[in-house]
Amino acid sequence: MAKQRTTDLENVNCGLCDLRKPVIAGNWKMNTSISEGVTLARALAVRIGSIDSVEVVVCPPFVSLSSIAAAVKGTAIHIGVQDVSEHDDGAYTGEIAVNMVSEFADYVIVGHSERRLNYGESDARIALKLRAAVNGGITPIICVGESEETREAGDAEQFVRGQVRECLRDHQGGQPLVIAYEPIWAIGTGQAATLPQIEYMVESIREELADQFDTHTAEATPILYGGSVNPSNIAEYAASGCIDGALVGGASLNADDFAAIVKAQADAVSQP
Ligand code: PEP
Repeated sequence: MAKQRTTDLENVNCGLCDLRKPVIAGNWKMNTSISEGVTLARALAVRIGSIDSVEVVVCPPFVSLSSIAAAVKGTAIHIGVQDVSEHDDGAYTGEIAVNMVSEFADYVIVGHSERRLNYGESDARIALKLRAAVNGGITPIICVGESEETREAGDAEQFVRGQVRECLRDHQGGQPLVIAYEPIWAIGTGQAATLPQIEYMVESIREELADQFDTHTAEATPILYGGSVNPSNIAEYAASGCIDGALVGGASLNADDFAAIVKAQADAVSQP
């Protein structure tokens, strides 16, 4: 069971899911050629049909963006990107600015743990990227999550709340925002977090949002879970009512698996 909390969010949290449309986002990472990506996106579009109770997002590599956008035009699939520069333009070799992708992308993943760990992205830089995304009209999906060591030390909640606080320090309540709780130890390991672990952290993040902004922002912000989500475990997460969808890595590269995840989330939405 998730720890009992004492704020008013304890009472309202799961009753306000109508405010938050669930999001199932696929992070393709550095996988798929352009043609493989187009094939994958088309296969996914066929499988999910005209679903509108779930926001379905795919985040292909930058070079595939225009091709994938053309392939999914008129379908239920939205496009996201996996990262973006905090700068608008200039001498930043290899970087991609928001205005270069905003004609294709509705979402951008910011602060994925692989960027934090492999490219040294700090919370401060992520805060700048978030601002650039919001200013450019793209909804940021901010990733937060603790390492195994931090969890074992009993510091996971404090650590994740600190990430939320720092990454959102320039954010205004009420602006577009999605948060993905992605414990690092669960990403790509097949060792997904348990429902109580996720619920506990989602409630804690919501409390942090209420502290930092206001109750409405806390209630209206979708909070996803990411880490080894697959067609077998999504139904349990989706049914909890507190988790507003998933950020999916490996399983998003298979159209059958990703469509099954989307459908399980949609089925949970349709339950009374
Ligand atoms: C991710 O990279 O954000 C992720 C959740 O990966 P996976 O689903 O493969 O664990």
